[in-house]
Amino acid sequence: MVSFLTIIPIIGIVGTSFYMYYNGVELYEPILLISLWFFTGMGITMGYHRLFAHKSYRTNTILEWILMIFGSIALENTILKWSSDHRRHHSLSDTDDDPYTIKKGFWHAHIGWILKNTDPEKEKISGVKDLEKKSAVIFQNKYYYHIAFVGGFLIPLAIGFYYNRPIGGLLWGTFLRITLVHHATFFINSLCHYSGKRTYDVNSTSRDSWLVSLFTFGEGYHNYHHKFPSDYRNGIKWYAYDPSKWLIKVFSYLKITSNLIMTNDYQILQSRFEVISNTITEKVKKSNKNYLIARKMDLEILKNSANDLISKIKNLELPKNKINAQINSESVINYKKKMIKVLADLDSISKSLSYS
Ligand SMILES: [Zn+2]
Ligand SMILES: [Zn+2]
Repeated sequence: MVSFLTIIPIIGIVGTSFYMYYNGVELYEPILLISLWFFTGMGITMGYHRLFAHKSYRTNTILEWILMIFGSIALENTILKWSSDHRRHHSLSDTDDDPYTIKKGFWHAHIGWILKNTDPEKEKISGVKDLEKKSAVIFQNKYYYHIAFVGGFLIPLAIGFYYNRPIGGLLWGTFLRITLVHHATFFINSLCHYSGKRTYDVNSTSRDSWLVSLFTFGEGYHNYHHKFPSDYRNGIKWYAYDPSKWLIKVFSYLKITSNLIMTNDYQILQSRFEVISNTITEKVKKSNKNYLIARKMDLEILKNSANDLISKIKNLELPKNKINAQINSESVINYKKKMIKVLADLDSISKSLSYS
């Protein structure tokens, strides 16, 4: 495993650079890299992660097979092993039993956990019985390396041969592409537990980073994901870069995906409110007393109206109240607007506390 994970990036980065220097670049090579990176990356995020590990939406057997094949070509192990590790990463997050806990350091979370000889007990595949009967999973368990070899090695080589540059096809389509897909995934476990904002849960080491989202097909909003792991979205704002979310949604219009799980807005607003309130409480302990006396009333009023709005939104969002839609949906939108304003006011008080 050590040599495998060392040789691939060396050939991928150094080999491709030398090849480019001596033989130039043909347009098909970066296209091959980007398209294979996209499809195999989506196999991991949309397939392994959101479909198999979290069951955040449902789909038909054909898409399950397609995602299984692309995921296999990404070379990140089988769906069962990946999902077993990942489910433990969520349920035992930040403990010794979290396979890629950041508590053991950045390197461990990034790649060290794969390279180290871990306790065979902890390596065991568990908690994935629900996936074992799926035909795509059964097939992958038998032929994982065959799929990875044909899709990840032979096809780029054949495309390279077609352009009379077989080595170019292999370097761009196999070695450099695997390096990018691997380290993008690894960065979610390392960087997204290390740097970024804790927008929805201050007690988790996970962070939200739009930057990481750009090269992980939307997986960078990791604090939100740890707080609400079943949600099919990771970036919840409509403009948040999350192509996995967009594709799952578009497929739902075409009836290819269904049962998309979405967290209720009142829960999201509530967790946001809790994070801001906690931050204010922490800052208040260190702040200038006179300033606090002046803002105390404002804080109380804002906190009370936040609690009031959350309970109103919650009431209207409960399934039994969604039936008489029209009046409710208008009220919900109004309450949410007010709540967002209250959160912004609280946030600006929180920011001003840093300077007082
Ligand atoms: Zn995580
Ligand atoms: Zn997850």
